[in-house]
Amino acid sequence: MITVKDIKQSGLTDKLVLGYMSAFDHEQVVFCNDNATGLKAIIAIHNTVLGPALGGTRMWSYKSEAEALNDVLRLSRGMSFKSSCAGINLGGGKAVIIGDSKTQKNEALLRRFGKFVDSLAGKYITAEDVGMGTRDMEYIHMETDFVSGLPEAMGGSGDPSPVTAYGVFLGMKAAAKEKWGSDSLSGKKVAVQGVGHVGENLVRQLVKEGCKVTICDINEEKVKQLAAELKVTAVGLDAIYDVDMDIYAPCALGATVNDDSLSRLKCSVICGAANNQLADETIHGVEVIKKGILYAPDFVVNAGGIINVYYELEGYNRERALAHAENIYSTTLEIFRIAKAENLPTYAAANRIAEKRIQDIGKVKLSF
Ligand code: NAD
Repeated sequence: MITVKDIKQSGLTDKLVLGYMSAFDHEQVVFCNDNATGLKAIIAIHNTVLGPALGGTRMWSYKSEAEALNDVLRLSRGMSFKSSCAGINLGGGKAVIIGDSKTQKNEALLRRFGKFVDSLAGKYITAEDVGMGTRDMEYIHMETDFVSGLPEAMGGSGDPSPVTAYGVFLGMKAAAKEKWGSDSLSGKKVAVQGVGHVGENLVRQLVKEGCKVTICDINEEKVKQLAAELKVTAVGLDAIYDVDMDIYAPCALGATVNDDSLSRLKCSVICGAANNQLADETIHGVEVIKKGILYAPDFVVNAGGIINVYYELEGYNRERALAHAENIYSTTLEIFRIAKAENLPTYAAANRIAEKRIQDIGKVKLSF
């Protein structure tokens, strides 16, 4: 994860935007302002070698423009890597709208944003992210066709969570194969943090596989209902880090693999859906190794969602999306192989695979 601190350390503070773009190889950053609607947004296109830059739009009350810029640049680069590792022909992009999604979001602002997306003529394709809902995407879609992840009723692919959960499940099987020599998860103790769209789907698959599952969520009703229906164990929010487990599956928030949790977690594998699980990848990506924990890189195992959206662009077919998501198993194993062979943390091996595919396909495109 790149932080403002990284930029400062790289001595680029005097040329914040272009310096950062150059340091992390971004192609284009578009600043959008509209006084009439109050829209203030940034669209970041990291890389379009593999295809159009696809990534969601996040609406958030950023404390400063620098914070918004840092977020959009970091997230767009993450999208390039996620799509590259997933073997799909999409580049990486992301957009942020600066503001409170509860009080400042309205039709005019979103449609104005849609016009900015449209002005990029398909180089950037947007989707839902934090602070945005289905209705918001409909408004954006009124001004541009370059919107993905639409509901099925609008001709889209609908909720991507089942495909994401399936990918995480396969990533977990790959991690089990690497750690214990068999990809059966039967009998394994799995702690799932967050039983929302992805977490619930994952828990259902794990129970079917014969795992002993422990869950937690801030939504107490949901926890109660799932515990009763699936006979899984429920624990409090903080207690999840201390349960007896083989596998920790973060499916709620980012940055939960940090100094505190690593001093408590007694798992052998970390594999879940949440984005940016390592609080600081250069520190905690190494700490997990010292603790004997195998970390399945988040953007590799949670790529089911982007794979699903990719097939929406191609003319949606859930079977094809699921079949493609099956590659997550072999990709995860390949990352473990490279990490071992080259003595790298697994996140670094995943970054390397992603960068290599972008470079290789870039060369292919040079030929007529
Ligand atoms: P969601 O909002 O449906 O579910 C998240 C769940 O986490 C909610 O039930 C929420 O109550 C719970 N939660 C929030 N804070 C918590 C806490 N402190 N402790 C325990 N539970 C907490 O989201 P989702 O779509 O299921 O996605 C889960 C994660 O996976 C997110 O980080 C998301 O960015 C990532 N992800 C999702 C997809 C997808 O297809 N939906 C794809 C890739 C990555």
